[in-house]
Amino acid sequence: SIAYVNGAFLPLGEARVSILDRGFQFADGVYEVIPVYGGRPFRLDAHLRRLERSLNEIRMSPPMDREALGERIRELITRNGGSDCQQVYLQVTRGEAPRNHPFPREVHPTVVMTCSPVPPVPAEWVQDGVSVITAEDIRWARCDIKSIALLPNVMMRQKAADAGAYEALWVHEGAVQEGAASNVFAVYGGQAVTPPDGPRVLPGITRDVVLELAEERGLPVSTGSIAASDLARAEEIWLTSSTKEVLPVTRLDGEPVGDGRPGPLFRSVLDAYRARIGELRAR
Ligand code: PLP
Repeated sequence: SIAYVNGAFLPLGEARVSILDRGFQFADGVYEVIPVYGGRPFRLDAHLRRLERSLNEIRMSPPMDREALGERIRELITRNGGSDCQQVYLQVTRGEAPRNHPFPREVHPTVVMTCSPVPPVPAEWVQDGVSVITAEDIRWARCDIKSIALLPNVMMRQKAADAGAYEALWVHEGAVQEGAASNVFAVYGGQAVTPPDGPRVLPGITRDVVLELAEERGLPVSTGSIAASDLARAEEIWLTSSTKEVLPVTRLDGEPVGDGRPGPLFRSVLDAYRARIGELRAR
């Protein structure tokens, strides 16, 4: 595939950044994963706005304006065969400099993008649901920044995998925050809630699409906190993320969720989500 590195499009195997890059040395950078359907990026503007917000929070300027970056993304998709590209990974780091913690004076951001296919979500995940575990939130207090520092997430998703589970849900001070790579929704009395924006929640684009679709269709979905002690009695639990869309959770720490089957509200939300994506493909 073709990658983008600081203005150049080149074969992935030839794409290089310095070992002195602060992304490599300090995880001093942020990223986005943008889903692409039929060669068209989905919610591109929302992803680019979130990127700008993340950069601003780590005191970096955007490497170029949204329009210009959007153009580079579209060109990358085209160069990768259009519909063969199903996700764009975009990373911006503070750049290359001799290793020293404070910001270097003269430094240029490193902008890297890659395109890749997304393995289809297995049909059984949607039909039967996935398993999750809960875990104490060992991350930092700025999870609203889409930082490339993902070691806690890597460790916890491996722990989930070791337990035969798909995802881990972070619990901080008794409240469920989000998954290691997803946002979370829980249904009580037929009403779904997802934790509001806060320092331990990434403002997920897919979460926002679900909230928007629910609003449009009059489905009972809103923001609200989820007590960890209440999670086991949820009627439904779902996960959202750009590449997995909406997934039902049917096992929580080894116990069934609700009746152990994906629930009716999940179905309505997934149908709405797929319809929205269908509109994009048909455009
Ligand atoms: N929360 C975390 C920690 C994530 O890494 C992700 C994305 O991978 C999400 C939530 C979901 O965000 P989005 O829907 O924007 O992909």
